[in-house]
Amino acid sequence: MLGSKTTKTLDAPWLNAAPLRKVFAALSADGHAVRAVGGAVRNTLLGMPVTDIDLATPAIPQDVMRLAAAAGLAVYPTGLDHGTVTVVADAVPFEVTTLRRDVETDGRRAVVAYTTDWREDAARRDFTINAIYCDAAGKLFDFHNGIDDLAQRRVRFIGDAHKRIREDYLRILRFFRFSAEYADGTPDSEGLAACTALKDGLAQLSAERAGAELMKLLRAPRAGEITRVMADAGILANVLGAPADPERLARLETIEAALGLMPDPVTRLAVLALDGPNDAAILARRLRLSNADAQSLEGAVTVNPAFDSRAPEAAQKAALYRLGTDAYRRAMLAAWARSGAAPTDPAWRAKCQLATRWRAPSMPVSGTDVLALGVPAGPRVGVILKAFEAWWIGQDFPGDQTVNKDRLAALIRDG
Ligand code: ATP
Ligand code: MG
Repeated sequence: MLGSKTTKTLDAPWLNAAPLRKVFAALSADGHAVRAVGGAVRNTLLGMPVTDIDLATPAIPQDVMRLAAAAGLAVYPTGLDHGTVTVVADAVPFEVTTLRRDVETDGRRAVVAYTTDWREDAARRDFTINAIYCDAAGKLFDFHNGIDDLAQRRVRFIGDAHKRIREDYLRILRFFRFSAEYADGTPDSEGLAACTALKDGLAQLSAERAGAELMKLLRAPRAGEITRVMADAGILANVLGAPADPERLARLETIEAALGLMPDPVTRLAVLALDGPNDAAILARRLRLSNADAQSLEGAVTVNPAFDSRAPEAAQKAALYRLGTDAYRRAMLAAWARSGAAPTDPAWRAKCQLATRWRAPSMPVSGTDVLALGVPAGPRVGVILKAFEAWWIGQDFPGDQTVNKDRLAALIRDG
């Protein structure tokens, strides 16, 4: 797709798919122009997958809602205060945003005014590669040479980098996120210098916005390399609130690649920023992680003798049974990255792969079995079950129910 400066049209399956055609048709009924912009256009030009499609139009939100409803499409005012409504066609949601220009900025949020000028809308976007538009016919509108920057794998601010960062300090993190995802080599020097000079402005951001952007950065293929640049510039500590270890993260990335695993941002965060379980809760709170992510983060730094390349397989089976597949894999990968062992290390590899090779059985006896053996209902039932479970794990999870029931009876008799 890229490679020639004369690329002026986009040909992509999503552009011709029925849901988007319906939205284009509905919104242009009054003669308004509608264009796709941002990630969908950028990723298509790069030959990368497209997840969601953002649309821009000079029509004001009230008109967008009226036109969508008139065409029988569902429409929701999901972000009216910044000009965004969500139009749903065939169960596919599209964010439709009215062209805007910034009237006032304070480093955290902007007061915007609607405009009908595409150039003004392009100028308030962050990077050249994020300001490429494409109309229903696939015609491209590239006001800031984004196509050229994509071809050169460059992430560059639109306009003066210092000014653009002072308008919204989140752009510091977005600069590194997009550099990690789409650029090659070291980040654009002008952008990097501006981010470094203005790093203290990160403190003004809401923890939610900064945390969400950091997690997106951690999902990127070059997260280790880019967090190293951020650490050297003194930016990473401002985000994490503590020193971090990008080398360890880079090691995790090579391990993930060797095992063919999808990157997991929570495991990556644990490896980057935590040495043990102590600070997991503090970090999760600082980054406003969801409860599920906070729990996963803590799980990734679980202390357990199983997470050692020399531990016997029985220890891993016990851990896998108690923690479940996801938590086991997270903690094992994190321990491997911390150990410094090579991504080809056979012992670590075998231990990680146990999670796919072996499925932990479920507990073969229950409270009902204990009651059936004459124990009255009460706390002793739980105590007996726990003792049985410890024995059963220690015996490598026997499946023979005669053996298991005998043992249960013996525990009740003797205990
Ligand atoms: P992806 O969805 O893959 O993360 P995206 O480019 O679509 O990438 P979004 O965060 O969805 O990123 O934003 C959509 C578009 O809105 C961007 O491409 C960019 O043009 C603009 N944008 C988003 N956030 C900012 C910001 N903080 N400052 C300036 N422009 C922004
Ligand atoms: Mg997007």
